[in-house]
Amino acid sequence: MSIKEDLTSILDTLPKTVTLVAVSKTKPISDLQQAYDEGQRIFGENRVQEMTEKWEKMPKDIEWHMIGHLQRNKVKYMAEYVSLVHGVDSPRLLKEINKQAEKCDRTISCLLQVHIAEEDTKFGFDEKELVDLVENEQFKGYTHVKIKGLMGMATFTDDMNQVRREFKSLKSLFDKLKNKYKDFSILSMGMSGDYTIAIEEGSTMVRIGSSIFGSRN
Ligand SMILES: *Cc1c(COP(=O)(O)O)cnc(C)c1O
Repeated sequence: MSIKEDLTSILDTLPKTVTLVAVSKTKPISDLQQAYDEGQRIFGENRVQEMTEKWEKMPKDIEWHMIGHLQRNKVKYMAEYVSLVHGVDSPRLLKEINKQAEKCDRTISCLLQVHIAEEDTKFGFDEKELVDLVENEQFKGYTHVKIKGLMGMATFTDDMNQVRREFKSLKSLFDKLKNKYKDFSILSMGMSGDYTIAIEEGSTMVRIGSSIFGSRN
């Protein structure tokens, strides 16, 4: 199927409350342009340099989301344009985003990445670290970042009960924090292989790549 058909059929199944991030990493501009022509305006990338090259070439009404693991020394290259950073996984990274956003006179929206997978290769905070961070006085002084919610990745497994369990735990943590922090509105969970489960478990934003653009090499 074409990008157009895949994108349309996914959009048809998404509830209106769920936002689609089209994950275009490794894909050429011509592929992004096809999705853009269908009305897609949110793209996710996992490398700063690649995202910046695409930002320079593509129309300026696109929202660029950084979804991958981010090194602090790369933040400055995207600070002037990035819309949402999904994978904030350390206080030091948040501090750097705040610093670079201030230099550009912007406020950058961020999601805190939570470690939900039972496998230990994924980055992110655990619940205690998360609470420690949002209650931290220094963090409250970061006026150029806005924490909009949480992001998580489930274990890469065929066991869909496990995936569901992990999404459930992220949703319950999200609900707990949402009661306390008024800016919390985004729960980013779900990719090509598991987004229907993620939506059933309360996701508000799905990050879908291969089901739209085809598999990556
Ligand atoms: C690549 C990637 C996705 C999209 O993965 P697909 O399986 O191709 O949909 C989603 N989230 C993150 C963090 C990714 O790195």
